[in-house]
Amino acid sequence: VTTLRSARASDVWLRGILSSLYRIRPATRADVGRHARLNNASVSRGLNQLIDAGIIRKLGELESGGGRPRDLLAINPDAAGFVAVDLEGIAVRFAHTDFLGGIRRRWEAAVPLGHFFPVDKVFEGIDIVLRDATPGERDRVQAIGVSFPGLMTKEGLLTAVNLGWRDVPLERLLRDRFRLPVFLERDEGTSIRAERSHGRAKEARNWIYLIVSNGVGVGLVVDGRHVAGHTHMSGELGHVTIDSNLDVRCQCGKYGCLETVASTPAIVQYYGDLTGHPPASLAEISLSHIFELARRGDPAAVTTVERAGRALGLALSHAVNLLNPELILLGGDIVAGQDVLTPLLRKELGRHVLPHLARVVEIAASDLGPDVRLRGAASLAFHGCLAEPHLLARLCKLPEST
Ligand SMILES: [Zn+2]
Repeated sequence: VTTLRSARASDVWLRGILSSLYRIRPATRADVGRHARLNNASVSRGLNQLIDAGIIRKLGELESGGGRPRDLLAINPDAAGFVAVDLEGIAVRFAHTDFLGGIRRRWEAAVPLGHFFPVDKVFEGIDIVLRDATPGERDRVQAIGVSFPGLMTKEGLLTAVNLGWRDVPLERLLRDRFRLPVFLERDEGTSIRAERSHGRAKEARNWIYLIVSNGVGVGLVVDGRHVAGHTHMSGELGHVTIDSNLDVRCQCGKYGCLETVASTPAIVQYYGDLTGHPPASLAEISLSHIFELARRGDPAAVTTVERAGRALGLALSHAVNLLNPELILLGGDIVAGQDVLTPLLRKELGRHVLPHLARVVEIAASDLGPDVRLRGAASLAFHGCLAEPHLLARLCKLPEST
């Protein structure tokens, strides 16, 4: 019993230290202790073990006025690696990453609209990003992280409309093919992970991630936890009713949904209607182009952006009143229009949110670019390995404890 208990205690230090150093780069021993909520003795024992194993490095020393110089510590990015896969939308992306989720090699395959995307192509993508890896790098790959759209059953069967997949046992197929642990998470979960590990939400405990693309959705983080919901379907802001008089029918069958006004296709459609573009030519208009025209004062573009901003701001204001967030992070296609949208969102929050709640919420845009979910999938694999004792032992090159 004693051995078991002490084994578990050391797992707690190792997990705490590694997840702190994943987020704070570099950090002092005191930073690690504070972030991981560990006492000095645990931090020292865990750090010594990880430094001996080559997983953590001392980068140098921080001079402190009068006191002892403090070691600056960081995870050695070469100590391990992961494979990350993003099954989103119109392209499937693959990466071989280092320990910290830095992308070493990436590749992507287009997903033709309305076509079936064969699982073999996923195998091929992983083979491609690992092809140039040295045998040592290949050995150090610990796990595969996958960001997926759509729905997964408890039995691990994935249904993803964009890929033409119905009940695909992806986890089992990948595990059998590559003999590696596989971790899968829905795309809003991986996006949130990426922003917490690498992006603008490193410090935030209560925040809303607003993603506008073909649909509109939010990721909700409350007291540091991603709120997934009873059946993992939370965050459907796109189907909040913003105007029950709207006569456009939403994909969900309702009328008046935010998505019919503020998704990327809906915004483009509205601009096309205002300017008399023939429907066939709409595919050539991008949201960033409309934002650029609005910046230059083009009246149709200004009206279009204002309408979308009003609708997004109104829907968000309900979420802000309910959740009291510190940050609204903009993601997806609206990142390109953050400068024109933010004042519109602020104005709506000012109208519909309690003054104190509106005052304390910051609005910012994601700076992680199109690889955000790949970075999140690597972070998922990292944290997945920390959570499972036998994978943590393998990662830290420890003898298995139980
Ligand atoms: Zn709807």
